[in-house]
Amino acid sequence: MLKYIDTPTIEIFDAVLEKAEIKLFVKREDQNHPFVSGNKWWKLKYNLQEAKKLGHETLLTFGGAFSNHIFATGAAARELGFKSIAIIRGEEILPLNETLAFAESCGMKLHYVTREEYRSKTNPEFIDQLKKRFGDFYLIPEGGTNELAIKGCVEFAHQKLSGIDFDFLCLPVGTGGTMAGIVAGLEGQKTVIGFSVLKNGDFLKEETKRLARDFSGKEFPDWHIETDYHFGGYAKRTNELDQFILRMSQQHKLPLDFVYTGKMVAGVFDLISKNYFPKGSKIVMLHTGGLRL
Ligand SMILES: *Cc1c(COP(=O)(O)O)cnc(C)c1O
Repeated sequence: MLKYIDTPTIEIFDAVLEKAEIKLFVKREDQNHPFVSGNKWWKLKYNLQEAKKLGHETLLTFGGAFSNHIFATGAAARELGFKSIAIIRGEEILPLNETLAFAESCGMKLHYVTREEYRSKTNPEFIDQLKKRFGDFYLIPEGGTNELAIKGCVEFAHQKLSGIDFDFLCLPVGTGGTMAGIVAGLEGQKTVIGFSVLKNGDFLKEETKRLARDFSGKEFPDWHIETDYHFGGYAKRTNELDQFILRMSQQHKLPLDFVYTGKMVAGVFDLISKNYFPKGSKIVMLHTGGLRL
């Protein structure tokens, strides 16, 4: 088992919140592990157990050069004694960026493929070729989203959110895996709002619904995905976003990144300023980690 550190839920005090009569909190799940942080811890938990149970020695996964998932998988492999291989989209760029340098320092083997090849990442023939080349492995898909990842996020909702009093849970959405798990875990008892970090995030509504339904056999009410807070698209940033992240860091000692959590928190503050939330609402923002960019 990966080590786990229990995380606090911190209240944020701000004039904007007082005016709107909103109570705002952040669940600092980014502090749950020094390297396998935030949602990645929960997405990997049951995949790592399954790999051990099946007797695998090696984990193989996919990602881009800035992927928090690659970073976390490398660290988890090192902690639990797996070998690890990452299939990286695009050409090798030296010196390695922080994400890949860290993954390599964990013993992760980095294998670069063209963008065209990378598109075959779920094709069984391509996976077979990888097995011929690298030997047997436990496959974790791109971004780490699969049924066992959702199982972990359901467990997070049951174990770590059930003790908190709130009306809305807000989180950033990449593949929809974490959102699906939290929606299935909260079972419509609370409203869940996801913030797409992708430019054309509309497909995430269907994708999240499908993931939650495939996992639990049910459809859940009281959740949706905001698609207007991508700030230009995946890993894109604007001055406005950078200013906001700086303000959160200085005024509230809240560290955010511009790929995921910065966009979500900016979206929550914008909705609050537009009086989206009823007066008296309690909102929890989930800090999903990923501060190594
Ligand atoms: C990976 C990641 C996400 C996206 O999670 P999905 O399950 O792919 O939607 C959100 N926030 C952070 C910090 C991440 O690293």
